Amino acid sequence: MVFEGIATYHDQLVQGITTVRAEVLRCLERAHSQSHLNAFLELFDEEALARADAIDLEVQAGTLRKLSGVVVGIKDNICYESHHVSAASSILEGFQSLYSATVVERLLENGAIILGRLNCDEFAMGSSNENSAYGPVLNPWNTSCVPGGSSGGSAAAVAMGACHMSLGTDTGGSVRQPAAYCGVVGMKPTYGRISRHGIIAFASSFDQVGVLGHTVEDVALLTSCIAGRDGMDSTCTAPRGENLAPESQGKTYKIAYSPGWMNHPSLHPSLHQHLEAFLQRCVEQGHTLVPIEIEEMDYAIPVYYILATAEASSNLSRYSGMHYGKRDDHADSLESTLKLSRSNLFGPEVQRRIMLGTFVLSEGYYDAYYGKAQKVRRLLKERFERIMQECDVFALPTTVGPAFPLGSKSSDPLAMYLEDQFTVLANLVGLPAISVPIATDEHGMPLAIQIMGGAFEDALMFEIADRLVDSIRPNYVS
Ligand code: GLN
Repeated sequence: MVFEGIATYHDQLVQGITTVRAEVLRCLERAHSQSHLNAFLELFDEEALARADAIDLEVQAGTLRKLSGVVVGIKDNICYESHHVSAASSILEGFQSLYSATVVERLLENGAIILGRLNCDEFAMGSSNENSAYGPVLNPWNTSCVPGGSSGGSAAAVAMGACHMSLGTDTGGSVRQPAAYCGVVGMKPTYGRISRHGIIAFASSFDQVGVLGHTVEDVALLTSCIAGRDGMDSTCTAPRGENLAPESQGKTYKIAYSPGWMNHPSLHPSLHQHLEAFLQRCVEQGHTLVPIEIEEMDYAIPVYYILATAEASSNLSRYSGMHYGKRDDHADSLESTLKLSRSNLFGPEVQRRIMLGTFVLSEGYYDAYYGKAQKVRRLLKERFERIMQECDVFALPTTVGPAFPLGSKSSDPLAMYLEDQFTVLANLVGLPAISVPIATDEHGMPLAIQIMGGAFEDALMFEIADRLVDSIRPNYVS
């Protein structure tokens, strides 16, 4: 049976047309038959089936929780008590979580089934999933292409039908860009909507848990279940239990966009065409388009890579070979434990970022780089506060085109960093943003549009994305 969204699935469960066990078995079968895509680092087969039986009994007894039987995969940087978590890094090999992330607790409270942990770029650093210590993930639509990153496993697993939905993390686009490349919906909320407790930190002032699924409606529902205040994360300030489900009331909206980005010379021609068609449709439906150019945008990538690497260099100092996971086998003193473990067990991209981050924070360079980048971040934030007072959403591309071939950018870090040009903005300014598939290109590869909302206006963003984007439902068949 094809998964048609949570509401339909729940109807089918209640009517006895399917069972949670049957769905979990179907997902597991799919995950195993597609194991060459390398999306899962581990499947929790038996545990998922046992939980499925318990949820089936509940459903038979008439209890349906919001996510009953929804099969979810979690990115390998989200802690789940007594389960392995490695951030796709050798340095955390063998490490088991001592507690569950708040998002995991809330998934379980709402009846979801956690199927396994999903491959990603090491410590969520990357845009192609080629930085995993456990090998790259392949794009289910074309296995010679990347699935995007860093939450590549999370996007591929949903696209290939091995789970209904998944969790990723988004520091600079790591949920939205892979969602775009794999033809699924991917969303990062307003900074402060979802707790980061139990998430392996990369750049704490940017990191948010993001949600991937097949429809905007499902993503909004799952987000409503996991979002809201948490005593374990003081930056998480949104109220609990807020219903973010899209409503359609025939309203008209004010949609900001940048003509420069929507006509960007680097955009793939077919994507450009579909973005134009989107804007035209908005006008035809009576919505107002507000063209705005944002000159500061040229600084988004440099500012992101200065601030994110600075925060990463500090966050990753805890991996010393002393605590957590692995220590280099040849370490025989305090100094060699630190040096050998960090040199041999962190991958090259993580080491590059630690060095870059340490450099921009060092005395003598701090003001020139870190201090200045903070000021530009503030300018961008203020700019977007003003735009969002006037407009309901900001529409922009998610990526410049479809997924690129494996290996085509991995030797050029700068080319890879430019992958994030349209996604880092939402993280820099802390606003919610969602990527929705709009079309496929001439080779059948998915293309997407991105809709960014105002601060804590995630519900309005969902509503507008749901109503305005004529989203394609991906039809991936192995
Ligand atoms: N691709 C970006 C980076 O490598 C974003 C990563 C992320 O969002 N986790 O930093």
